[in-house]
Amino acid sequence: MTIMVPSKTPALISPGRQALDSALHQLHQAAGYLGLDDGLRAMLATPRRSLTVSVPVRRENGRLDVVQGFRVQHNISRGPAKGGIRFHPSTDLDEVTALAMWMTWKCALVGIPYGGAKGGVAVDPATLTTRELERLTRRYVNEILPLIGPEKDIPAPDVGTDEQTMAWIMDTYSVNAGYSVPGVVTGKPMTLGGSLGRAGATSRGVQIAALAALGRSPEGVTVAVQGFGKVGALAAQYLADAGCTVVAVSDATGAVHASSGLDVAALRAWVTESGGVHGYRDADAMERDELVEQDVDLLVPAALENVITEANAPRVRARLIVEGANGPTTPEADEILAANGATVVPDILANAGGVIVSYLEWVQNMQAYSWSAQEVELKLRDLMQSAYDEVRSLATDRGLTLRQAAHAIGVGRVADAHRMRGLYP
Ligand code: NAD
Repeated sequence: MTIMVPSKTPALISPGRQALDSALHQLHQAAGYLGLDDGLRAMLATPRRSLTVSVPVRRENGRLDVVQGFRVQHNISRGPAKGGIRFHPSTDLDEVTALAMWMTWKCALVGIPYGGAKGGVAVDPATLTTRELERLTRRYVNEILPLIGPEKDIPAPDVGTDEQTMAWIMDTYSVNAGYSVPGVVTGKPMTLGGSLGRAGATSRGVQIAALAALGRSPEGVTVAVQGFGKVGALAAQYLADAGCTVVAVSDATGAVHASSGLDVAALRAWVTESGGVHGYRDADAMERDELVEQDVDLLVPAALENVITEANAPRVRARLIVEGANGPTTPEADEILAANGATVVPDILANAGGVIVSYLEWVQNMQAYSWSAQEVELKLRDLMQSAYDEVRSLATDRGLTLRQAAHAIGVGRVADAHRMRGLYP
């Protein structure tokens, strides 16, 4: 069986298809480097299971809306499937498949015993009341119930979902099981078996990866962060805490800039109060989509996919890009950035802190035990740093970009698992 891998991303394709094309391109490159045969490539290029569901939601005014939901298990050869659930109006099966594939390589790269999965519901959570959101979440979970479970597939938060969403998922699953099953989701509130350190874990991992890649003192390093949600806001905070100067941030509502440095804690408080960075008074407003072109040392995309493309990559001035988001850089942009001498710490490495602490949360749940914040942080640092060192050393030895090296390691481990397990029947 041959895999079709488009060499160029055609214009006018959906963002989800573009993300899946990027993921397939990266897999194809890694498979070429590793010399994988066509059969194995085909297995790795296609998800193990994909489920599309219809989710009926009763609105407060009595109307019935039906939205689409998805759960994709890309690969389970190394352990249970693991991956977040996204609530976003433009999510579709292609996007969820790409995100699930990246989860597979990420878990293998950082050496945790999981496969890759992702879920999504094509809805804008900001347009729903809390009660509508709860009904939607519970019904979606009920529809994907046959797939999930602490030993099968463990969801977590992603764009548009949070610890409250995880609490509803845990409750819905537990009510169906007849007893409490905290290990069915991670990113839960502490009172339901969440882990210390989980809420800031992805951002902490971004900070660790950024400081490792900087290779110099963070003092005076200027930073721009795109996306000021769960990952971006705390990444900005942790980088500022480490001594960097965060000069620009954006979110869906707009972007703000202060060349002497933003007070990140004050901006976070403003966003909690007002719902977005727009209107923050102690900084200058700027065009939202120009954020990635800011003249800074370090750029952290922490919003959505396909934001650095061949159209704007030539204007990206940051020499270091650390991907908090999944899939922010298209393959064409990657080539332009590499040719211009920029270093990209890829998503499957840079944002792995989230799934690492999700794994630690799950281990604590399975043991009905909990660890201190220091213990969790130490394990996170250890796994992040060793993955970074391994990727850096392969890239240096073989003349690869960090993304190529990270994929070679991640894809290689999953391919090894397939070879060792053999093919049933
Ligand atoms: P979130 O919903 O908490 O935040 C998303 C942010 O992006 C919001 O601030 C939103 O306003 C902003 N945004 C949306 N469109 C934008 C645009 N056009 N320009 C600028 N900002 C825009 O989601 P999150 O959990 O922080 O996830 C962000 C990214 O990080 C996603 O790619 C996600 O897959 C990835 N990620 C998240 C985790 C996690 O633990 N939450 C782990 C690994 C990777």
